[in-house]
Amino acid sequence: MFWLWASGYFCSKTFYTMKFFYLSSLPNAEGLFEIHDKECELIPESINRDYLGPFNNGKEALRVASQKNPKAALCAKCCSGISQAIIFSSKNKESSQEI
Ligand SMILES: [Zn+2]
Repeated sequence: MFWLWASGYFCSKTFYTMKFFYLSSLPNAEGLFEIHDKECELIPESINRDYLGPFNNGKEALRVASQKNPKAALCAKCCSGISQAIIFSSKNKESSQEI
């Protein structure tokens, strides 16, 4: 019975933290197609976006979106924390390669 309880708990918790992501079908000023979560204020009209699915974060959504559209990019508004993390980790990688 513990297994049933535990798996139910983790499933519902995972679902709760997941967000629904959409890929814009209109390019932004840089020619990139932005990924937005459902609650983002910059999300395009429903006719100008494709549903990607539920993901834990923008990074996972980008992985799927880039298979559909190689020019997919994360929205600075709703996914900014994620993109900063990617920049930070890539900087660390570069500096460690220099050493
Ligand atoms: Zn957004």
